[in-house]
This record gives sequence, structure tokens and C-alpha cells, in this order.
Amino acid sequence: MNTRKSENIYQEAVKYIPGGVNSPVRAFKSVGLNPIFVDKAKGSKIYDVDGNEYIDYICSWGPLMLGHSNEDVLSGVEEIIRKGTSYGVPTEIEVKMAKLIVDAYPAVEMVRMVNSGTEATMSALRVARAYTKRNKILKFEGCYHGHSDSLLVKSGSGTITYGVPTSPGVPKDVVKDTLVCRYNDLESVQKIFKEHGNDIAAVIVEPVAGNMGVVAGKKEFLEGLRTITKEYGSVLIFDEVITGFRLAFGGAQEVYGIEPDMTCFGKIIGAGLPVGAYGGKREIMEMVSPVGPVYQAGTLSGNPLAMYMGYKNISILKENKNIYKELEQKAIKLENGFKENLEKLNVKGTVNRAGSLVCLFFAEGPIENYEDVMKCDVEKFNIYFKELLKRGILLAPTQFEAMFLSNAHTDEDIEYTIKASYEAMEIAFDK
Ligand code: PMP
Repeated sequence: MNTRKSENIYQEAVKYIPGGVNSPVRAFKSVGLNPIFVDKAKGSKIYDVDGNEYIDYICSWGPLMLGHSNEDVLSGVEEIIRKGTSYGVPTEIEVKMAKLIVDAYPAVEMVRMVNSGTEATMSALRVARAYTKRNKILKFEGCYHGHSDSLLVKSGSGTITYGVPTSPGVPKDVVKDTLVCRYNDLESVQKIFKEHGNDIAAVIVEPVAGNMGVVAGKKEFLEGLRTITKEYGSVLIFDEVITGFRLAFGGAQEVYGIEPDMTCFGKIIGAGLPVGAYGGKREIMEMVSPVGPVYQAGTLSGNPLAMYMGYKNISILKENKNIYKELEQKAIKLENGFKENLEKLNVKGTVNRAGSLVCLFFAEGPIENYEDVMKCDVEKFNIYFKELLKRGILLAPTQFEAMFLSNAHTDEDIEYTIKASYEAMEIAFDK
């Protein structure tokens, strides 16, 4: 595989950008490689600047459920750009977008657009704290909610890969009100609520954790969170940045039949443009300025281009609900193929799947929380990753991320991936 052009760009990039990348997981550092630089992408395929083609399972970390450069999503975009790219004054498409979300999520009566998942969770917490007049928040080990200070505690994603569960630069005082419990462990939550319940403003959780591989919340666990937060008057926040509009049109809350008080959305509602949103019960959302006293703002929030693309993306999903069934079928095919491979090669591994999110862990199951995830053989994963890359398959360059399937992945893509995965495991595990 020739990656000479990528390598040259990378050498230039490190001079100007920390690590040569604008987000740490892009660096490929954890797998001992330098990153590939992308030229373009279409459907399930991504092409690097050297002309190598890869079946892409990163899909921009989730939003591209319809694949790259989907013609239906893109149609009309040029016209929108030519009208203007940002006004700082409202546009109708923002209202249409808000209505689309509110109609899809009974628990969301009002919604505010922001520019990233990080902003969504950070803002939701501020509102929840103001609403309850309490300071403490509770999160779960291995759940990632973006990089705002108070949430950067025992989180997943790049913080696991690069070993900075609590980053330097986050003052102790800022995280003193962040409590952490074990994912899928209701007892640990009950214990902490007994001690601090009346001071807990909010519990924030990924209903399906997608930042420590894929770990689905158990129904009893999530229902338990609903019950206990109601009992103590704390705000239950579902971070659906990954699961919203992906697990089902109505997100994880539809699948589990649980209504949180607040919901955070991200990338999917921008179809790959920078977007996030947070919403919830009217009474809570009316805390937000200019109706209420909680300040939260953004020059580019509700950007017309992002809203236009997002609106088209979500509308397509709304009109074609069978996309979800198709996506799940593809994911099941991948899951079964991986399981067969593990068995045939007698490799200790576990496949977790939730809807169209799949993760092959190199550790014995069940994998239900951060501690379980930490048992994975990362070195074997790194070899596996490289072997797959050589075979034209692009995974997230770490064991602790999901494989994101899109509707553009074909049966052939999946079959080839299973075959290549077998070969990569043979090499990684000396079989
Ligand atoms: N919450 C979750 C569940 C996420 O997966 C992410 C990012 N992957 C975020 C929040 C932060 O989103 P962003 O990177 O857009 O700030």
C-alpha cells in the first residue's frame, strides 16, 4: 500500500497542528501508524490522497447513515450556499428542523441548536443545574460526552486510547461535583444517590455506550436511572449523540421505551456538518435565554447550510423507515460473520451489537462496562487494524470505538470485511 502523499502531508501537518490532526483519535498513533489523509468519499468507500480505496466503518464517527456524499442529501446544497452561508439572524429551516426533532421525540418539547455534541451536553448540564438549583452531576465510567471540563472524567473514546481519563488543565474544583458510577451497575447508583441524591442536578448517560466500543445499557439499568432520578428530582439526560436517529428514528429512548428529561443530539442531525442540539421538557428548556436566565449562545448555531443538510438527512430517514431494518440486517450479518470467525479460529473475543453499531472486542465476554472493556488485548487489535487497513478496510484506529454501518454498505462490502477480518485475525493471533 503506497501512502507516500499522506506521509508527506503528515510531515507538514505536525509542524502546524498538534499531532498533525484536529481531533486526537484521527492520529492513528495508538496503532503505531501515521494517519491517512482523505481525498474524497462516496457511498461506503473513502479514498485517500494516494488513491487507496477503503470500505469505511468510521463514517465520520456516526452521522453518515446514508453513506458518504449521498446525492439526495446533497441535492440543492449549492443553491443554499449561493444564497448565503451564515446570517446571525434566524432562518425558517431552523424552525423546520426543530419541529422535525420535536415530532420524532415525545420527550423533547423544545430544542436548541448548537455546533457540536460537546456543546450540547455542556449546555444541557448548565440548564439542568439551573433548573434543579443543584451542582452535582453523575456520569458513568467509559461514557464520553465531549470534552467540556466537568464531563472529562473517566470518559471513553480518545481518552481511553490516549490514557487521559482526567485531562490536565481541568481544575480539581471544576470536577469536584462530577460523580462517577459503573455503567450497567444500578447498585452503585443507588449507593451514591443515598449519599448525595438531594444534591444531584443531573444524571447523564449514553443509553448505548458507543465510546468504549459498543456496550448496550441494560433495560433494568436505564429504567432504574429513570426511577431514581424521578424520586430525587434530578434531571435524567440521555446523550444520544451517537444513538439519536440511528438506533431507531426515535433513538435509544424509543427502543427502550424510556423518556428522559433532556436529550442531547449531535452529528447525525447535521449529516456530517458541524451540529449538535439539546432539548427536553418545555419547563426545563424555558430556563434557556432569552426566555429564561440560563445563558447559552452561538454565532453559527442553526447554520443554514448545516440545517439544510441535516433536515434532508433526517427527512430521508423519516420517510424510509425500512432503512433501519436494512441497516440492522447488515449489522447482524457482520456480527454473525465475526462470531463465526472467532469460533473457527478459536480466538477469545466478543461481538457486541446494538442496532447498526458493532464492536469486535478481543476479550472474553460478557462485556458490560468499562472494566470489562479494559480486559481487551489492545496489541492484538493494533495488528488486526493494520492488516485490515492493508486489505482496504478502515476501522476507527482503536479497540474502544464502534464500527458504524451505513445504508451504503453493500452485502459484498460486508462479506469482504468478514473474510478480511478472518485473515487479519489469523495474523494477529498467529493461527
Ligand atoms: N457525546 C457522545 C455520546 C459522543 O459520542 C460524542 C462524540 N463522539 C460527543 C458527545 C461529543 O461530540 P462532538 O465531538 O461533536 O463534540
